[in-house]
Amino acid sequence: MKFDWPGGAHAACAITFDVDAESAILAVDTRYAARVSTMSHQAYGPKVGVPRLLGVLERAGVHATFFVPGFTARRYPDVVRRIVAAGHEVGWHNDLHEPPYSLSEQEERAILERSGARDFTRNAARRYRDEALAQLDGAGVVGAEARERLREIITSVISA
Ligand SMILES: [Zn+2]
Repeated sequence: MKFDWPGGAHAACAITFDVDAESAILAVDTRYAARVSTMSHQAYGPKVGVPRLLGVLERAGVHATFFVPGFTARRYPDVVRRIVAAGHEVGWHNDLHEPPYSLSEQEERAILERSGARDFTRNAARRYRDEALAQLDGAGVVGAEARERLREIITSVISA
């Protein structure tokens, strides 16, 4: 079966990174927190790797998805802000890198609740709502009534 990619491209790919940092090793055993060299090794990603990647991606003009555990986001909030400010997508990667296949629905729900992910995604959704409505206003293609209805729909989804 032939498929035509947009713009005459021959292929497409998704570029994704995991910013696991200390979470991946602490998920295995929290006693690793006392091992300075191990923690330093795990911190390399957010402290050195991500800034370098952001530079590479900017020079290439490419956007990527960065999967960030909640633990990493709380420990390195400025790193997450830099990722978002550069226009990249941030994906949820559980809180302490817990493998989702090992969790019950209740456990996964509890992790989401305590990690603050819901607040983070709502804030992101509000920002996207505001940006989307601003673009609609700028384009002038949607009437005031339709715009207000769209705002209500998006707001109800965010508030659910
Ligand atoms: Zn990971």
